Amino acid sequence: MIVATTGPMANSGRLIVLTGPSGVGKGTLVSRLLRNRPALFLSVSATTRAPRPNEVEGVHYYFITRTKFEELIAQGQLLEWAEYLSNYYGTPRQAVLERLATGADVLLEIEVEGARQVLKTFPQAITIFILPPSLSTLAARLKQRRTESPEVITRRLTKAAQEITHAPEFSHRIVNDQLAEAVAQLEAILYPA
Ligand code: ADP
Ligand code: 5GP
Repeated sequence: MIVATTGPMANSGRLIVLTGPSGVGKGTLVSRLLRNRPALFLSVSATTRAPRPNEVEGVHYYFITRTKFEELIAQGQLLEWAEYLSNYYGTPRQAVLERLATGADVLLEIEVEGARQVLKTFPQAITIFILPPSLSTLAARLKQRRTESPEVITRRLTKAAQEITHAPEFSHRIVNDQLAEAVAQLEAILYPA
């Protein structure tokens, strides 16, 4: 869809930001959404985190060193970035801007600090905060995903409680309780009838 805006994003696609705490289901929602909407472009982030066993370079992330990441920051190559629990995560600027310029909608799946930065630099972005039904549900989801150690899960949960306080800053909020319902709410926000 082409939306007429003013400024650098005139006649561009829409910048869509999905944020919320780790384990809330952002990745799951994104994969459901992409299944229904193959024209949507999902930005691949850079990170200094080590890959999980199933993760593929250039598909899930660009896995880079801290030195390289700091170079990207210094060169202004990141649209937004944040340090999340001792690792850097950031969105490569050029790929996103190029896709937007073709009129394609671009989706960022990022943590809360980065999403707050996007709100400042791209106030016209569509920002959606995904909430868990409760913190105990969030804890259960992180545990059953089995991708992090118990210590890292504890740190992510502590961070989550603080991140959730920022939910009101975003233009839309969805509670990811029943997955199908959350997907339907996401579709309704992005593709109103
Ligand atoms: P995030 O990308 O926000 O860190 P994930 O998409 O990896 O979260 O989801 C965390 C875990 O919770 C995964 O194991 C996923 O299958 C599960 N999950 C996601 N949404 C739901 C839901 N609505 N109900 C139950 N489990 C869910
Ligand atoms: P994970 O280690 O679970 O892959 O990601 C940790 C957090 O970083 C998640 O909330 C994820 O959405 C977020 N994240 C992934 N890519 C980016 C990015 O490019 N920028 C920011 N700010 N956060 C990101």
